[in-house]
Amino acid sequence: MERFDNIDSFGRAHTYVRVSVTPKCNLSCRYCAPGAQPSPCSQKNNKGTEISLPEMLGFIRALGAIGVEKVRFTGGEPLVRPDIEQLVEGAKAIPGIKRVCLTTNGVLLAGKAAALKDAGLDALNVSLDSLDRDRFRRITGSDGLGGVRAGIDRALGLGFKPKINAVALADLSFEEIDAFVKFASENRLTVRFIELMPFCEDDFTKTAFAPISRIENYLARKYSAGPPETDGVARNYRINGGKIGFISALSHPFCGSCDRLRLSSRGVLYRCLFDSHGLDVKTLREASAGDLPEHIGKFLAGKKEFHGISSASPADLKRVKNSMRFIGG
Ligand code: SAM
Repeated sequence: MERFDNIDSFGRAHTYVRVSVTPKCNLSCRYCAPGAQPSPCSQKNNKGTEISLPEMLGFIRALGAIGVEKVRFTGGEPLVRPDIEQLVEGAKAIPGIKRVCLTTNGVLLAGKAAALKDAGLDALNVSLDSLDRDRFRRITGSDGLGGVRAGIDRALGLGFKPKINAVALADLSFEEIDAFVKFASENRLTVRFIELMPFCEDDFTKTAFAPISRIENYLARKYSAGPPETDGVARNYRINGGKIGFISALSHPFCGSCDRLRLSSRGVLYRCLFDSHGLDVKTLREASAGDLPEHIGKFLAGKKEFHGISSASPADLKRVKNSMRFIGG
């Protein structure tokens, strides 16, 4: 039977929720936490803000009831949450939830991959902006490239096919693009370049932004890549047995087919990454489990047609940057 509680006023069915399980992170990526280097993101601002495991699972259950089928745990860094395996296992057991995925920076992945597999995790994305140790350190504030590479190797050994996400930054050289092509080819993986989103209060975005087309045109020239295939929000090119993809929320927005909701670590449901207001699920604590789908359905119906980030004011951008870890990337 077709569900209608998950369809907004533009006819978009929402089948995917991204859940930020913690605002805490063990890296301080320049574009995500500007000014935070060299210390890891502020722990003092992040205390006491996470909703509990039963609350998170309870809400995912309500989302499952309105037709959400896919859950992605993100953050902050989801692997710093000690009960992440229980969250995966709990989400897998929810009726209607068909896929449970996770996005990680990979720092703790080598030690956690087997437990995540046992918990039933279906798929992994690993964020890895550079294959060069010094550049990795400059971007993330940490000398952790070796650990991330070990995590990816471990995941591959366990049968995961992790997708690698790299934010496209101005200092990404053509040599490093070639290194990513080689890395994708050797490991039969997909590496996706993500357009930098303008979340920084200083001039970082202006100086660090790299047009995705620069990388795409370089690849087309050098590797004679055929036409791209669409995979969700990405455009992927097959090159030498690997895939190189592009995700550009600003220059190629995918709002028309957006199927995503976002649950923040503070327990607020957002209809868009760039929204300033959401539905505080804690206000629904009194609602019976049977009424939750209707509350969510009403909230969903008011989703905006486009994200509007290109015309956002500096104050809006500051707010989005501040909430990125809570809403989840
Ligand atoms: N810690 C996990 C990780 O690194 O994958 C999950 C959270 S992180 C916020 C999720 C993704 O958001 C990462 O791939 C990160 O590169 C991306 N991200 C963060 N800030 C961004 C920005 N300003 N523009 C584009 N992507 C960004």
